[in-house]
Amino acid sequence: MIVLITGPSGAGKSSFIHKLMAEDCRLAFSISTTTRPIREGEVDGQDYDFVDDATFDGLIEEEDFVEWALVHNNRYGTRRSYLDKMTAAGKIPVLDIDVQGGVNVIEMFKTGLVSVFLFPPSWDELERRLRSRATDTYEVISTRLTNARNEVGFAQRYEYWVVNDDLDAAVQRMQQIIAAEELRRVNIGSNPLG
Ligand code: 5GP
Repeated sequence: MIVLITGPSGAGKSSFIHKLMAEDCRLAFSISTTTRPIREGEVDGQDYDFVDDATFDGLIEEEDFVEWALVHNNRYGTRRSYLDKMTAAGKIPVLDIDVQGGVNVIEMFKTGLVSVFLFPPSWDELERRLRSRATDTYEVISTRLTNARNEVGFAQRYEYWVVNDDLDAAVQRMQQIIAAEELRRVNIGSNPLG
């Protein structure tokens, strides 16, 4: 099983995923590789693998990306070798990726994928959350607001919709989704009666 979570910047995805992972040790965050500059408070190798353009080009050439996309003028990608390592260790990878990558992943993994679109409670709240991020410039915030409108248009492609109105409640809904998915016949694998 692979869990895919997409939502516009400002939907509160980072806190949502952080809390979700803290409460379920079977989940493992899929660390993406990006050319975006590191933000204050972020840790290289933990939040992302921060690389330069040449390194990113090399990984494309080696075909190590399951998907990659240009998001807000920076490149982000999910590495096949990382996903393989996580599933081999018996973990459930959690992918936090944008709509372009998300739609590609949905098309690639016809089974075993749980796709979730995370909504902010309202457009006003989304804007408020983006503006409260002191690290981003005015231009970055404006681009993200415009992109958010476009991103929400892709929500139809996702199986589950979760509104992040209250973090605890939203995480609880997500845990219910995972619990239900685990009861799918294909995820149980073998007949319990042998
Ligand atoms: P941020 O720069 O705010 O951390 O992330 C910007 C956007 O890039 C978010 O929507 C995030 O989900 C997306 N993103 C992060 N990693 C990946 C990835 O590996 N692939 C794709 N396609 N998008 C990603």
